[in-house]
Amino acid sequence: MRVRAGAATDVGLVREHNEDAYLTDPPLFAVADGLGGHQGGEVASRVALETLQEAHRRDGDDLDLVEAVRRANRAVVERAREDPALAGMGTTLTIVRVEGDRFSLAHVGDSRAYLLREDDLSLLTEDHTLVHRMVLEGRLTEAQAEVHPQRSVLTRALGVEEEIAVDVGVHDLRPGDRILLCSDGLTAMVRDSSIREILAAREDPQAAAEALVDAANTAGGVDNTTVVVLDAMDGEGRAAEPAARTAETPAAGAEATAAPAGARRVGGQWRRPVAWTVVGVAVIVVAAVGAKAYVDRQWFVGVSAGRVAIYRGIPAEVLGIELFTLVEETDLPADEAGRLAPWRGLRDGITADSEDEARAIVEQMERDVAGARPEEEREAG
Ligand code: CA
Repeated sequence: MRVRAGAATDVGLVREHNEDAYLTDPPLFAVADGLGGHQGGEVASRVALETLQEAHRRDGDDLDLVEAVRRANRAVVERAREDPALAGMGTTLTIVRVEGDRFSLAHVGDSRAYLLREDDLSLLTEDHTLVHRMVLEGRLTEAQAEVHPQRSVLTRALGVEEEIAVDVGVHDLRPGDRILLCSDGLTAMVRDSSIREILAAREDPQAAAEALVDAANTAGGVDNTTVVVLDAMDGEGRAAEPAARTAETPAAGAEATAAPAGARRVGGQWRRPVAWTVVGVAVIVVAAVGAKAYVDRQWFVGVSAGRVAIYRGIPAEVLGIELFTLVEETDLPADEAGRLAPWRGLRDGITADSEDEARAIVEQMERDVAGARPEEEREAG
């Protein structure tokens, strides 16, 4: 099968850095969405893709995708260990490899892979997020999950622990099929039905990729958006140009990120059912640690004792553990702020990327409340 690829990435309209990255190294394609402050997210996604590309260059079509994700994971863990400023960084990684009349997927995190066949768009990956888990447990509906303020909290990411569970799949590939890889910057802003329409309306994969990024930005562009579009076509050969691009730094040429000496090969172990239980427990622990590592870098504005307050963490609990700590209580009455349209989410917590951003939100609230007061007095009088 011949494959034609298009790709686009954009910082969006709100964020200062693009922590997303993509790799197009036919027949291998990947998207990574980094997380963690102080440049950590950018480093994590870049290290993961560099490690993947290096393994692909070495092993070619023999590359074991699960082993490649594990290797990329260890490279991110190692890199975070070397540099304390990068502690807590992590990344998603979603990989597609075209293999004749089928393709393989390997996936961790909340980036996604879709298949457009005829006119149907189907989601091929499962989001490793807290809200998706709550949907599976029946505690949230799909509709509630889509707008949940903590929908981006991950239960699985590269860079958290030495070992990682990887979702894999193999699908058949037909001429005319179109595969989409994307970061959550797209899916948080653009509905699946619109994604399908945009993909169906543009024949050129590069034009489709750019149109999807434009749609995310038109909808608000609150996150980085990255898209890879792959078209399966009749015929032999590889039409797509080899290219690697991490948002601001080329993937090639940076320092080597080989797996640490003595790293343990995990494949082939844990064959007995009893051992699978151990794996399950380990995954939950890793998820809790991962959530915590991410959580420590988050901020939000919420309510404490009836006043607007600044918190570190996220307004949620995992396994009964609160994922936040109160940093500062302001004098601003929460009822007054929460009444105003832009701040209706105050009770649930309004998330921020940094302490400065949280403080800026509070200042804006104070201005909005002050602006609303005379009007109410006029109405009253
Ligand atoms: Ca993202």
